[in-house]
Amino acid sequence: MLPLYLARDLTEAQLLVDRLESEGISVYVRNAALQGAIGELPTTLRPEVCLLDPRDLSRATAIKEEFEARQRTPVTGEDRRCPACGELSPPNFELCWRCGEPL
Ligand SMILES: [Zn+2]
Repeated sequence: MLPLYLARDLTEAQLLVDRLESEGISVYVRNAALQGAIGELPTTLRPEVCLLDPRDLSRATAIKEEFEARQRTPVTGEDRRCPACGELSPPNFELCWRCGEPL
């Protein structure tokens, strides 16, 4: 099992899990049982998204980075569709997150 992302809370962890699972990547959330906790949790107790298969790491990392960028940047406008691969990227992206083609 390979730790991928330390989430702020379970809601955030679940968003990333949904994203990864939609790409066929198997994940496990460590500390998910702490769902009822309120407030800022110590780092060691925050939900952590882990990969079950280390071979998924490079794909999962790309998805995680796109996810983190979305968390940081307030997204306005429509997602932009890549002219090369057809994948949607957030409106604040200059390059396709999947293939690197300029949008
Ligand atoms: Zn693309």
